[in-house]
Amino acid sequence: MKILVINCGSSSLKYQLINMDDKAVLSSGLVEKIGLSDPLLTHKKFDDKFIIDTDKQIDFGGKIQNHEDAVTIVIKVLLDKDLGVISSMKEIDAVGHRVVHGGEKYANSVIINDEVILELEKCSKLAPLHNPANLIGIYACQKIMPKTPMAAVFDTAFHQTMPEEAYIYSLPYEIYQNYGVRRYGFHGTSHQYVANVAAEFLDTDIKKLKIITCHLGNGASITAIKHGISIDTSMGFTPLAGLTMGTRCGDIDPSILAYLSHEMNLSIDELDNIMNKKSGVLGLSGISNDFRDVEDAANKGDKRAELALKVFTYHVKKYIGAYVAAMNGVDVIIFTAGLGENDKVTRANVINGLSYLGIAIDDNKNNVRGKLSVISTDESKVKAMLVPTNEELMIAQDTLILTSQ
Ligand code: ADP
Repeated sequence: MKILVINCGSSSLKYQLINMDDKAVLSSGLVEKIGLSDPLLTHKKFDDKFIIDTDKQIDFGGKIQNHEDAVTIVIKVLLDKDLGVISSMKEIDAVGHRVVHGGEKYANSVIINDEVILELEKCSKLAPLHNPANLIGIYACQKIMPKTPMAAVFDTAFHQTMPEEAYIYSLPYEIYQNYGVRRYGFHGTSHQYVANVAAEFLDTDIKKLKIITCHLGNGASITAIKHGISIDTSMGFTPLAGLTMGTRCGDIDPSILAYLSHEMNLSIDELDNIMNKKSGVLGLSGISNDFRDVEDAANKGDKRAELALKVFTYHVKKYIGAYVAAMNGVDVIIFTAGLGENDKVTRANVINGLSYLGIAIDDNKNNVRGKLSVISTDESKVKAMLVPTNEELMIAQDTLILTSQ
């Protein structure tokens, strides 16, 4: 059974074709700059990497004007006799779509049908930067593969188990009832995936574990997973809340908006842009949203870069502390995503600041990148782990279960 996983952004489309018999990735890639004058396809077949200029090397029949063109090109490449990995479109048994927001309607993945599409269109209001792009990907695939079953897998679904006291904001209750303003949480597929992998690795029933998952990438969030279910998470109504991130500010006092709109004469949209795109580690350091650049600068003595990294580590520790309280304990703390999987310094700084939990980093074990492993000392009462995330596999697994029923 081969499943195509699609993750559509407003001008990009990521894909992965996975053979679910052995979970092998047959091909993966990214179409970028859709609709612009210089679109680009990066296609990977097993371990070989091809960067194909859209005009020269493959006849795509023109530019990549829209997502439908992008899906057409992806299928063409997958079928190509040199670059491809399948000989007929019929070999794609199902398509799994990443959808960012499923609102309160979806606590699980679903098979896409007309009714689901209508619901997703309603959810677009809640995630205007993401859901419309996800939907465009769905429409495009439906047009090109009308007979292929498709599933939607939501970033929010895993967090639908949060209790009321964790998801409600202390605004007039009618605002929640009438406008759906509440904490939804994101990165759900990643948090759920790494927690399951860790429980399996530790050979312990997840229903017996209290786990804190730290998804630390450009976007970053932390989740408290008690006995297998999400009970709280740092992102909120949107993915702007919680930790400081690459470019996002995370939690700030909401009154700052009113103050700045007067003082700087900025509109709400301009302030929203600052909070989403110009803040976080980029805004603090003035250097980059990439932690590698900021770490380089800090190592050379740049004070603002140092501050940005200190703020990030402090936020991660603070959320871990809060979630220890929320669960009345913790058994496993997991690091994942770009920074969590690759940056031993941040992992060590976070864990070594939590010695009150009876946890300590093992420097040898922590000297690792992207490998499933325990990184705390053998004596630690709480385990720290590195678990590489794999959102595509999780999407493919859910799609397989739903389409096999
Ligand atoms: P997203 O999917 O949110 O864009 P990723 O999970 O791919 O993010 O993480 C990307 C980030 O991970 C990069 O911006 C970079 O800051 C960080 N990162 C990747 N490798 C390293 C490394 N070796 N050291 C420190 N940070 C790293």
